[in-house]
Parts: sequence; C-alpha cells; structure tokens
Amino acid sequence: MPIFVYVHDTFIYSTFKYDVQIIMDNKRIKIINGRLITPYRVINNGTILISNNQIEAISEREIDAPGAEVINAAGNYVSPGFIDIHVHGGGGHDFMDGTEEAFLAIAKIHAQYGTTAMVPTTLTSGKEDLLKTLDLYVSAHPKNTEGAQFLGMHLEGPYFAQSQRGAQDPRYIRDPDVNEYTEIIAYSDVIARWSAAPELKGAIDFAKYLKKKGILVALAHTDANYDEVIEAFENGYTLATHLYSGMSGVHRRNAYRYAGVIESAFLIDAMDVEIIADGIHLPAPLLKLVYKIKGADRIALITDAMRGAGMPEGESVLGNKDTGLKVIVEDGVAKMPDRSSFAGSVATTDRLVRNMINMAEVPVVEAVRMMTKSPATIMNVAHRKGSLVQGMDADLVIFNEQVNIKMTMVGGRVVYTTMSDLKSTPKL
Ligand SMILES: [Zn+2]
Repeated sequence: MPIFVYVHDTFIYSTFKYDVQIIMDNKRIKIINGRLITPYRVINNGTILISNNQIEAISEREIDAPGAEVINAAGNYVSPGFIDIHVHGGGGHDFMDGTEEAFLAIAKIHAQYGTTAMVPTTLTSGKEDLLKTLDLYVSAHPKNTEGAQFLGMHLEGPYFAQSQRGAQDPRYIRDPDVNEYTEIIAYSDVIARWSAAPELKGAIDFAKYLKKKGILVALAHTDANYDEVIEAFENGYTLATHLYSGMSGVHRRNAYRYAGVIESAFLIDAMDVEIIADGIHLPAPLLKLVYKIKGADRIALITDAMRGAGMPEGESVLGNKDTGLKVIVEDGVAKMPDRSSFAGSVATTDRLVRNMINMAEVPVVEAVRMMTKSPATIMNVAHRKGSLVQGMDADLVIFNEQVNIKMTMVGGRVVYTTMSDLKSTPKL
C-alpha cells in the first residue's frame, strides 16, 4: 500500500515499508563524460539520463535529451550509490542516541562519503531502548531527504554468546526469548535484518520465525562449530555478520581440531559474508583471502561505523551518548580505553572501496560491486538498487581514481557535491 506524505514542501512517495523516494518535478538530468561502472564493466565516456528519480537510459553514446540539465562528470567514475548494510553512527551521532536528529545526521554525513542507502543498526540493549529506536526510525524516515536512504533496521543482538561479545554490553546479552522477539516484531514492521548466535538455546526457532516474517537472519558474536553453522544455514542464517570479528575459528579441544564459524562460512558456498574493510579490523592478507574464497558476489563491504566516523579523532562514546561506553578513536579505529581491543570502526564507504583496490588488489569493478550490487542482493533490493541499469533508482556517486567522492545523488537528487562546475553545460 503506497503512502503519500508532505515533508518540507517536498513530495514523498513510499512504495512499501522500507522505501521513501522523492518525486522530482519532472526534471531530466543528463550525466556526461563519465566512466560508468555497471556491475560487470566500465563504459568509458558514457552517458546516463535520469528522470523521475530513476535511470531512464544508459549509453556508450551521446543521448539526445533536449532541455535536460547536464552534469559533466569530467572523466571521473560514475557508479551506483554505495549501500552500507551495517552502520551504527557517524558525524558524532549514534542510532541509539534516542533522537530523530541522530538518524538524519548520520544519513547526511555518510552520503558525503558515497553512501546512498543504509541499514541503521542497533547495539545490544534492553527491550525498551530497542522499541524506542524502532519508533524513531519510523518518524525520521519520511524526513530523510538530505542523506542516504534507510532500507530498514538491523538489530545486532541481544541474543549473542557472552564469550564472543566484543564491545557489546554484557549486561544485556541473553538467549533468544520467544515472548520478547515476537513482541518486538509485532510492535514494528521496519526490521529488515537481525543478527544472533545460532548455537544458543532457541536460536533455530528464532530464525524460523524471522524467515516467516521476511526478515534476513545473520549469525554474529557466535562460538558455533561447523555442525551448528550448517544447521543454522539450513534454517535461515544465510549471512555472516562482520566475518572474523566476534566469531570462532579453528580451535582445539583435547588435541583434536575443530572448524569454527569462519571456516564454515568459507565452506558453505551459498553463505554471504560481510567484511569491515577499514584496513584495520582485517589486514590485507585476510581481505585477499576472503575475496579469493567468497568472490565479489558473496561479499558485502560494511563500515560497522560508530559515531566517530567523519569526525576528528579523540575521545568518543560507543552506543547511547549518555549511557554508552567511553572509547578512544586513534589510528583510524575506535579502541577500548586500555587499547586492548577495537571498539568499533570509523570507516566510511569510500574508504572500504579504496582499501579493496589498494590493499586487496581487487579490480575497481569488483570492489564497487561488493559495495553496491552484492549488498543490494543480500538485502533483497537488487531489483531497484545497486546497478547502473535502466529502470533502477537514480542513486549514483561520482568519484576519482583515488575514490574521493565528487558527487552523491540519492533518488535523482544531488545531496552532496564538490564539483563547482557540476551543472555547467560543456561546449560541444
Ligand atoms: Zn555492528
């Protein structure tokens, strides 16, 4: 059932619960002189025509469109907008702050780095805080006209293994509680994905219930062994949340070796994986290894960013601004105060793509695919997002050889640009 609302004099059209798109005033935009990154090749000197917030045409040749506004990409790359399916914050805000302002500010700051769609993510917390965050998503969603679009919420926790909790608050970690999760899902229909540890009591029934409700189930913060991961996969856990972080690997018990979650995710070809490609959580050899085994179509690059993303380094807070954990951001990552472990990432999507090209030596087309089409496929929005194809949402980024973002367009609307001559019509 479509929903129509007015916000700030802008007409908003929502086709289904996760989707808000801005209807333009029938303006057509033509992007010329771009190196277009389709999912599988680069079209040098290509042209894209946009109308009604969608891609109307894409061509290797000039497109005749009288009256269209012209954007000169000046030989830079033009790619589908980046899709970040796991992000907690940025620009000094966290989705758990308890304010609408945080939602809007995070969407806006990440758009400056190329993100055009994101899945706002919670941290392990009490039920009341989760419900409040879901309410804020609903109220912030239609007002989000200046930043990356929201694709539904991701609940990270609270059903995790204590032994793999990482920076998740141990006070709130618990086994799946059927009364609790059915109540949360009945309360709000904006949950798009949920991460849990599949070896916990009740975690298989939990996954079956979520699948029935159309919610993506991911395994995370888990000590499962191979047999448990196979059973989990068969029952809906089709995605591994931030591979390598907060999960078991090869381990020994009484001299015998056992495969952990990491090896299981490699062995199960059809399992998708997320990686925090900030260059710190995973060093270059591990980025290369994951890419070599899983390939670009099974990998989603994620920022997993906390509030320190897009901010100067120094003291920061993980989670709610008043009750969260004090952490320190230095050397491009958030650390626990004693520096014993990481406490979140401050990555932005441009940095993830750049790292995959420079550190993991992945071709640009494949690096971009892991930030666009693959996450779109995982989130079940690939029919609308993640590719430069006729009929897709006009979510685009323009960036140079170093993956510095020059322009971000969300739904046919430029929300960020550094190109001063953006709208000049070139002499022919
Ligand atoms: Zn996270």
